[in-house]
Amino acid sequence: MIRIHEKDSIAPYLRDASNFSEGSASYVVIPETKEETIQFLKENNDTVTIAGAGTGLTAGRVPPFGTILSTERLNQVKKISKNCLTAGPGIRLKTIEQELSGSGYFYPPNPTEQLAFLGGSIATNASGSRTYKFGSTRDYIQKLHIALIDGRTAELSRGHTINKPIIFDDGSKLKFPKINYRSPNCKNAAGYYVKDNMDWVDLFIGSEGTLAIILEVTLNLLKQPDEFLSGILFFEEERQCWNLVKSIREDAPISISPCSLEYFDQYSLERLRKKYSKLPAKAKAALFFEQDIFGNPESILETWFDFLEPKESLLDESWFAQNEKDSRFFHEFRHAIPLLLNEENSREGRVKMGTDMAVENQYFLELMSFYQEILSRKKVPYAAFGHIGDNHLHINFLPNKDQIPLAKATYQEMVEKVLEWEGTVSAEHGIGKLKKPYFDQMIGQDSMEELKSIKRIFDPEFKLNPGNLI
Ligand SMILES: Cc1cc2nc3c(=O)[nH]c(=O)nc-3n(C[C@H](O)[C@H](O)[C@H](O)COP(=O)(O)OP(=O)(O)OC[C@H]3O[C@@H](n4cnc5c(N)ncnc54)[C@H](O)[C@@H]3O)c2cc1C
Repeated sequence: MIRIHEKDSIAPYLRDASNFSEGSASYVVIPETKEETIQFLKENNDTVTIAGAGTGLTAGRVPPFGTILSTERLNQVKKISKNCLTAGPGIRLKTIEQELSGSGYFYPPNPTEQLAFLGGSIATNASGSRTYKFGSTRDYIQKLHIALIDGRTAELSRGHTINKPIIFDDGSKLKFPKINYRSPNCKNAAGYYVKDNMDWVDLFIGSEGTLAIILEVTLNLLKQPDEFLSGILFFEEERQCWNLVKSIREDAPISISPCSLEYFDQYSLERLRKKYSKLPAKAKAALFFEQDIFGNPESILETWFDFLEPKESLLDESWFAQNEKDSRFFHEFRHAIPLLLNEENSREGRVKMGTDMAVENQYFLELMSFYQEILSRKKVPYAAFGHIGDNHLHINFLPNKDQIPLAKATYQEMVEKVLEWEGTVSAEHGIGKLKKPYFDQMIGQDSMEELKSIKRIFDPEFKLNPGNLI
């Protein structure tokens, strides 16, 4: 097992993609096997923060103190069978895609950051552009091998519900506490997942490393479509794009069944234009869509054109993928916007201030109008993009130093409105350390106490991932 004690070598582990810079740790351990990890946990008395790839946006892996346990060497693929893959938590999502290439199967969650580790993506229940149709990470987890902070381990499979206790390797048992808290119904990555009769694995997915360390994972895979039909539609007005999304969801012919509906507002396009000069000059909004196709794509493409023709869009100037290369380009284009904004934040020395909120479908147009109204009223610089199909946008505030209080007040007003609609303050990035004040507002004190009672049964001294979530 590698141990890092030098300050300069610890420094990279004190960051993630949020730019939060208040981390501190006495050393880093990098186990090479599950057994080494378990042995370390049994001998350790310190607090432990688990490090994935550090692409997280909420400072989840940034420790306030104590030891860092990096999962980077737990990156082996153990087994690929027909529709399952078993691997360590340190494998990158990109590597999973490469391993599955040519197998006839694919792993549908598609967080745009492919450098993330599998363990980190499970700890945050990551989702991505294709979540609109295929769901989030949670929907593809078949089995988890977990270790508690004291080194006890358990293998949890789908079908093992919280009505039966977990039995650990030393024979000890843990029962789920009796609590009233239930998770919201919209797309959600905030707080522990709690539903009646749920499987134990669901509790650990999205628990942000606060309950256990994920040592190994078995994923369910889906049959690879023959191709993904995709395009980027441009609009002269943002509202035209919102109306189209509503129409795709509500009145499109049955053969129009996209897996991705991703939004770019005028300020996102402004930034992308510097990199992609061919963007139509008049475009003030864009929609990336993708549909998985089995069989002949021609008739489906025709249906899309017939459907789009009478709608308000810059159809003649929009882009449609002709081949695999175009399709990859569209994904790069989608990924470019969070990257550009994160770079802009780094250049300005700004900690990321971006929303990750979602509501149920019924509030979609109200949500979009609300965002537009408040953002034009408050006049804080921003760019908005993201998973419009799931009513889930990322509003990235880009304030100068003087505008930070105004940006915070605007964010707060948005939180209050979304909570009025029983939405969530995090639909995919998790709470980490940066969104805790919003999470407190979302669930209230009584529910927070109930979540603490879950934490307590697995980690009585609150030594695992201190400062995250609760
Ligand atoms: C440009 C960009 C685009 C992004 N796009 C998306 C997107 O589309 N969708 C999305 O969901 N996210 C997105 N993200 C956020 C990020 O990629 C995800 O949150 C990702 O899942 C984090 O994985 P990681 O390995 O980097 O985790 P880290 O940042 O290292 O850690 C995240 C959390 O997981 C915990 N953790 C890590 N490994 C384990 C383990 N083995 N066991 C228990 N806990 C563990 C950590 O302690 C921490 O709390 C984006 C980020 C960037 C920079």
